Amino acid sequence: MNLNAQQLDQDGYDVRGFSHGLYIDGTWRSSSDGRLIDVVDPSSGAVIAAVPDATVEDATAAVEAAAKAARRWRETAPRKRSEILRRCFELMVERSETLAMLISLENGKALRDARGEVAYAAEFFRWNAEEAVRITGEFGTAPSGTNRIVVDYEPIGICVLITPWNFPAAMATRKIAPALAAGCTVVLKPASETPLTAYALAALYSEAGVPAGVVNVLTTTNPGPLTSAMLADPRVRKLSFTGSTGVGRTLLGEASKHVISCSMELGGNAPFVVFDDADLDAALDGAMIAKMRNAGEACTAANRLYVQSGIYDAFADGLRKRMAALKVGAGPNADTECGPMITRKAVDKIDRLVKDAVGRGAKVLCGGAISEEEGFFYPPTVLSEVPPDAEMAHEEIFGPVAPITRFDTEAQAIAHANNTEYGLAAYIYTRDVGRGMRVASGIEAGMIGLNRGLMSDPAAPFGGVKQSGLGREGGQHHGIAEFMEAKYIAVTF
Ligand code: NAP
Repeated sequence: MNLNAQQLDQDGYDVRGFSHGLYIDGTWRSSSDGRLIDVVDPSSGAVIAAVPDATVEDATAAVEAAAKAARRWRETAPRKRSEILRRCFELMVERSETLAMLISLENGKALRDARGEVAYAAEFFRWNAEEAVRITGEFGTAPSGTNRIVVDYEPIGICVLITPWNFPAAMATRKIAPALAAGCTVVLKPASETPLTAYALAALYSEAGVPAGVVNVLTTTNPGPLTSAMLADPRVRKLSFTGSTGVGRTLLGEASKHVISCSMELGGNAPFVVFDDADLDAALDGAMIAKMRNAGEACTAANRLYVQSGIYDAFADGLRKRMAALKVGAGPNADTECGPMITRKAVDKIDRLVKDAVGRGAKVLCGGAISEEEGFFYPPTVLSEVPPDAEMAHEEIFGPVAPITRFDTEAQAIAHANNTEYGLAAYIYTRDVGRGMRVASGIEAGMIGLNRGLMSDPAAPFGGVKQSGLGREGGQHHGIAEFMEAKYIAVTF
């Protein structure tokens, strides 16, 4: 039986007993070999639904559907494309509670985080609906004076989109909305842990008027061979990936065989720097958002907190109080503030990193040990005096653990912040805006929150430097430009 957003409403969010089809060419279908993937509720470990496990044959059918729909979609007037995207935004807003509950069920995040994600995810449709009608070209005279230079921007072609489980709605809409605005057709492969949101959204796009074949969605436990098969099709011209740096590297290698344009939104290791002159309460509020949005399972999560000596004790104690007071529980429970991790493996990784830091001399201010409860829980944890060589200073924790390290000078803070191969996001708290701007320009990162714990915004370019990726999503022109190709026409008249 297929699932759509209305059924979810009527069923009071109960997804048990439903299975879902692959969404190819506007129809729901099972995989060619009939195999299924179980979807697990991370708060209990129980299986709550099943989705088809696509084969290479299914992936080929999805590319075929995207190719069949391509010409008509690229020739659809920008205004019409814009109106369809706007309708996707409106439907997401109408269905926001249903979608939030679905995200919370399959991902485990607290409902309040899931609501925030739906609002953020929907904004990509509104923003790109507005951008779709403002794609302009260039016109000028060649320096030699012999001809005019006309530059037109064309949709790049069929796009393969691959997304992670930590933002099942937003990571998909951050790619689909600009791709559709640019005039491209797409095949989305969401993470196998969180496929239900992607399929619920596919039903919604169709209702909003997205024609059959323009968006195709498939889930698989065999992503390597399926992606290779799709990238080998010469009609596929774009790979847009969000996920770990390791998988990103593998995919860059695969794409290089076919010279395919790549956007890579990869891992992070964000420093959160607090200077003595910071507003303490604002810094603590910001740290709670930067660390605990999605229980720490965010690429922009504050992974290392560097606090200047004069404010260190007050900050560490304030953070301990706030973290220890968080209500841990199943995501869909109304009072939950910190949900479970996505898998048992994720909990074990956090445990390993905490034990390593403690073994190197870090002090546990709260939390610090795996919960006994069923489900994949790890308690909110604050560690102080974490040495710079702790493994967690160099790896993504991806969980509710805040490691604090002391520093004395501005130069030390910048050196600590840059002591990583990643460069996605960074946070700085100071009342001295001049210092804030100076430190912001010294830190190697694609995005900086200056006296802010949250920077994601569809209207701003999101992305990283160093091993955090290539390209930008969102922003004025940046996001759409990733899905367009410039065509230069030399004209003499
Ligand atoms: P992941 O393991 O890299 O998986 C991401 C996606 O890639 C999933 O859909 C996964 O499918 C797929 N995949 C895995 N191996 C593949 C292969 N060989 N070929 C093609 N696709 C493959 O990452 P994750 O654990 O889901 O997500 C967490 C990571 O994403 C973190 O590093 C986080 O920082 C990063 N992230 C970055 C951003 C950003 O904007 N920079 C945003 C969010 C998350 P399966 O689910 O089937 O394995």
